[in-house]
Amino acid sequence: MGNISENFVEIKESIPAGVSLIAISKTKSNEEIMEVYHCGHRLFGESKAQELVPKHEELPRDIEWHMVGHLQSNKVKYIAPFVSMIHSVDSAKLLKTINKEGKKNHRVIDCLLQMHIAEEETKFGLDYEELSGLLASEEFKKMENVRIRGLMCMATYTDDTEQVSREFRQLVKYFEQAKSVFFPQDEMFSIKSMGMSDDYEIAIQEGSNMVRVGSKIFGTR
Ligand SMILES: *Cc1c(COP(=O)(O)O)cnc(C)c1O
Repeated sequence: MGNISENFVEIKESIPAGVSLIAISKTKSNEEIMEVYHCGHRLFGESKAQELVPKHEELPRDIEWHMVGHLQSNKVKYIAPFVSMIHSVDSAKLLKTINKEGKKNHRVIDCLLQMHIAEEETKFGLDYEELSGLLASEEFKKMENVRIRGLMCMATYTDDTEQVSREFRQLVKYFEQAKSVFFPQDEMFSIKSMGMSDDYEIAIQEGSNMVRVGSKIFGTR
């Protein structure tokens, strides 16, 4: 356990200013999370609502919690009162639910659209046509309790670094395209959430400004 803060500091120092680091603490204990908290870090992420809720209740209130995992619409209500950002919006239905729960909680919830860029079939996410359909819809234009801050993706899990680079470049392309078409004047649309323990360095090279690192900080799960 003693290595967690060292791992954290090493990664934090290697990341350029301007790239946010989200410490992904799924399956990890409150004690392990507090090791990173005591380094001054406040951005943490979880992938399951049922794990996020008790951690939010038990841990310091100044932690900003990011939801990064696949989210079912019926779980949104549990995290809507406090979540800082939802990275994994992959359908109009989910966004609509987040908007509804945001309204109930009198807040605007920051969201990222998760894009499917991996060449493997299994990952969640939208293609560009689906993104475009969603953002152009009348329904979206009426949503006042969500704010789209950018895009998120997960690359294929592979040793082929050229493939991983290519996938991240695709996300950047989608980002630039979505920005010019749907958010030309909106400075809040600015986030490219890409890169995990095994590929965050490649992601940063390709233009990521938010990385989600778990096992390289907390150890394997
Ligand atoms: C678990 C997870 C991460 C962190 O993964 P590591 O490989 O442990 O760094 C990042 N993003 C998402 C969506 C995850 O589910």
